[in-house]
Amino acid sequence: MNESSAPLPEPVWLVAANVVTWRRCGNDGQELRPGTKSFKGGAKVYVARVYWGPGGDRLTVIGRARHTNRWIVINTATRHLHSFRPKLVHTPRVVERLSTTRNPDGFSADQAETYAATLEQYARQYRAEISPSSPHPNRCLCHACLTGESTWAEHIH
Ligand SMILES: [Zn+2]
Repeated sequence: MNESSAPLPEPVWLVAANVVTWRRCGNDGQELRPGTKSFKGGAKVYVARVYWGPGGDRLTVIGRARHTNRWIVINTATRHLHSFRPKLVHTPRVVERLSTTRNPDGFSADQAETYAATLEQYARQYRAEISPSSPHPNRCLCHACLTGESTWAEHIH
């Protein structure tokens, strides 16, 4: 059998999102780092699982690794992602990686839509909670500042 005759996996509903271009970290949130350790800023990832119990602050995602460009499954913080949206995924590599997670069948279409909206809120909230009493650095490039989604000032007053 050649590869083209292999059956394609069934598409699955997941939540797609993008990695923030820059994230705020370090002492008093004064440091900016591009993307995450595993992913380039802007990289597209698929949420395979959400840790709702502790507050949805962590996720299992599938995406292409920063250095190798290979598809990896890894846990990351919800605040490192943005633009969550429901997505019916056909990409065989993603479906294959999903099968190695504890949510091998993905979500229902309804779940994917609800989760996308909830995770967008959580991501904003968790970004706002990074060193909330420290002003952002001058000309800050963090996702909150670039998009104006919420500023530290709103949370102080
Ligand atoms: Zn900022």
